[in-house]
Amino acid sequence: MLEDKLSLQSLIETAQNKNMRFGDLCIELQAAEMGITKEQLLTKMISILEVMESSIEHGLMGEKSKGGLVGGDAKKMRDYIAAEKNVCLVGNLIADTIIMAIAVGEANAGMGKIVAAPTAGSSGVLPAVLFSLAKNNNVARLNLAQALVVAGVIGMVIASRATLSGAEGGCQAECGAAAAMAAGAAVDLLGGSPTEVGHAAAITLKNMLGLVCDPVAGLVEVPCVKRNSGAAVQALAAAQMSLAGIISVIPVDEVIDSMASVGSAMHCSLKETAQGGLAATPTALNWAQKLFGNP
Ligand code: SF4
Repeated sequence: MLEDKLSLQSLIETAQNKNMRFGDLCIELQAAEMGITKEQLLTKMISILEVMESSIEHGLMGEKSKGGLVGGDAKKMRDYIAAEKNVCLVGNLIADTIIMAIAVGEANAGMGKIVAAPTAGSSGVLPAVLFSLAKNNNVARLNLAQALVVAGVIGMVIASRATLSGAEGGCQAECGAAAAMAAGAAVDLLGGSPTEVGHAAAITLKNMLGLVCDPVAGLVEVPCVKRNSGAAVQALAAAQMSLAGIISVIPVDEVIDSMASVGSAMHCSLKETAQGGLAATPTALNWAQKLFGNP
């Protein structure tokens, strides 16, 4: 399945022609690809969800990261939101999404166990979207497992047509791809059509096109952790737009292809080398000096 370029559009059309939910088609195709039953596939997804959930809990312990640049912010925001006297500006769903995305990012920076979805640096986006939706909409675990398969298929298409690597395509390929996966998964989870899944993924990637990879001191801490929260919120915004019938004028496969060309055109200083963007600021260079003895 991975030898040729995959097409999200053709998968969407297949689901439409068969009058299937996109998630059902993804499960059918993935189970066949892996040579297992649909039930076995969903059982695997449920065990992955358990790791995601425990990575949220790990992050909420508030430990400092190995580099010392991040840690404790997920707990800080959870405690702030929990206090009745404080203002929850963004509503419960978005607040939970931000908290969970930061929590997983902090768990990753603290060497905790996470699910790379699609990468470790972007590992907070998908759990944040799925578990905040589950918490605020009473979603069953089996439905979350189905949504995870949808996310995986979208990730496979992006990997096939572009890249999931920050070193190759910038952060648009990591946090952008994670957000597109999460947006499509969210739409399917909430009963959206296959076409709406595609528009959600396309709108998300469009909104994150050109995002550079600029980790301070080469560590997956700053800006990565907070960038996960922004990407997760982008995913929810796109999912909401798509469910409301808003479409992406540029078809999803073409958006993914444009991400690939933007990534190719991006200067190497902006692709995980820690030589450009935020990583090249005076403060970042001071951190690099402090941590590693060289800027
Ligand atoms: S900035 Fe780079 S290292 Fe950090 S999450 Fe984005 S792609 Fe990954």
